[in-house]
Amino acid sequence: MSRQNALVWFRNDFRTIDNPALYHACQSTQPVIAIYIATPQQWNQHDDAAVKLDFWRRNLVKLEKELAILNIQLHFFQVDSYPKIPDLIATICQQWAINQVHFNAELAVNECQRDTNVIERCQDIGVTYQSHHDQLLLPAASIRTKTGTPYKVFTPFSAQARQHLVTPPDLYPAPVPRKKATDYTAEVLKEQCQLADIPWPTVSKKLQNCWPAGQQQALTRLSEFCQQPIQNYKTDRDTPSLAGTSRLSPYLASGILSVAQCWHATLHCEMSDSLHVWQNELLWREFYKHTLVDFPQVSKHQPLKLQTEQIEWRHDAEQLSAWQDGKTGIPIVDAAMRQLLTRGWMHNRLRMIAAMFLTKHLLIDWRLGERWFMQHLIDGDLSANNGGWQWSASTGSDSVPYFRIFNPVTQSKRFDPKGTFIRQYVPEIRHLSETAIHLPSTKNKPSDYPSPIVDLKLGRLRALSAFKGV
Ligand SMILES: Cc1cc2nc3c(=O)[nH]c(=O)nc-3n(C[C@H](O)[C@H](O)[C@H](O)COP(=O)(O)OP(=O)(O)OC[C@H]3O[C@@H](n4cnc5c(N)ncnc54)[C@H](O)[C@@H]3O)c2cc1C
Repeated sequence: MSRQNALVWFRNDFRTIDNPALYHACQSTQPVIAIYIATPQQWNQHDDAAVKLDFWRRNLVKLEKELAILNIQLHFFQVDSYPKIPDLIATICQQWAINQVHFNAELAVNECQRDTNVIERCQDIGVTYQSHHDQLLLPAASIRTKTGTPYKVFTPFSAQARQHLVTPPDLYPAPVPRKKATDYTAEVLKEQCQLADIPWPTVSKKLQNCWPAGQQQALTRLSEFCQQPIQNYKTDRDTPSLAGTSRLSPYLASGILSVAQCWHATLHCEMSDSLHVWQNELLWREFYKHTLVDFPQVSKHQPLKLQTEQIEWRHDAEQLSAWQDGKTGIPIVDAAMRQLLTRGWMHNRLRMIAAMFLTKHLLIDWRLGERWFMQHLIDGDLSANNGGWQWSASTGSDSVPYFRIFNPVTQSKRFDPKGTFIRQYVPEIRHLSETAIHLPSTKNKPSDYPSPIVDLKLGRLRALSAFKGV
């Protein structure tokens, strides 16, 4: 068979608009075939949450339909793990008359290794490949200090990034419908399967309804956010009971929406302090992704401040599980952790409060918290999650100083003054007054709500002494 089809390999980029791999594959007149390769064992190793995997499944259903309109068929495959992929891609290329392979690069160590192996295999069999970029606003290694080293601090990183972004990133339109590839489907391969054959976890309808699938949903959410909430972002973003943030993270983390689409959307809004702050959040995302590339230890769960390896973390399975279950007796922490369990998502302010409570007041290793978040977040993303945890645990390069420990009760009074958010997630204490709800006393605490598992003052002093020593 003469080689005449182009292949697009979808991974973490389930969209047709602004998808550079798809766009470039469609630049020639060749028919285009699309594949998705499920790797359940790898998902397990990476602690991908059930709610996130289910979100991928629902988005793949949408993507399959959107590609069909373009006359591009999406085929599904399943292998255990990444090492099996190079041979599979080579077989697909040979059996399906593929002469060029396109994919959007991923940045973590395992994914980079997988792609290097695939590229080598393509070269062996004379198939051209193109790795495109869709995860970053600016190419990896393009933001450097005067001495050519990567930035370890956000503020100068973001200042330089903004200078580069005076020329905004390219946007790629969805391709137009094309000639269908027809001469290959007789060859069904052994790893080929239906989407429904893949062992996706089951997730409740209620949880699914919180996060509707599809790029149109993401684009609508982005456009609605840019119409009004973005202008109040600076003041509303820290109040968990308000819909003051975009809630786009699940779509960004799974590539249903690109960060370039978000950045471009901001360019059509009126400039304001709030808009600037939201752009800064996109730049925090960027900073952590650049950090992932520049400091590969991030992919291996090592701290950026190596000396913090000496901290003597406490091993307390009971307290860890109280934190995980939202039963610490500190209402704002419990509300946060229950939001994670019931929504698969947590507000940013609460992520900081919950992470700092675990790593400082309980002095439990940040990696246990990082893992729990990854196992439950719909937007679980190695770079942002690791960045957030290392920031909160004071082990990261530009993290909170170890002595600036958030008092969760003070945070609660400041960011949930009436206890609106707590009441939503901790029904046991819903009836308490605005004053009492932030830390119920032994007198007003109902019997079904726990007493605090730690004395906040003592926990703080213990953390200060553990960190001071390193
Ligand atoms: C301990 C901890 C763990 C975290 N884990 C993750 C994670 O696994 N995945 C994830 O996407 N974010 C993570 N974050 C960052 C942040 O909490 C979420 O991105 C944010 O809450 C998502 O809500 P939103 O979409 O409404 O954000 P918005 O406030 O509307 O911000 C817009 C987008 O900017 C990005 N962003 C915002 N804040 C940050 C930040 N601090 N770091 C990196 N990117 C940011 C996100 O992509 C977000 O969707 C974590 C933060 C902490 C403190």
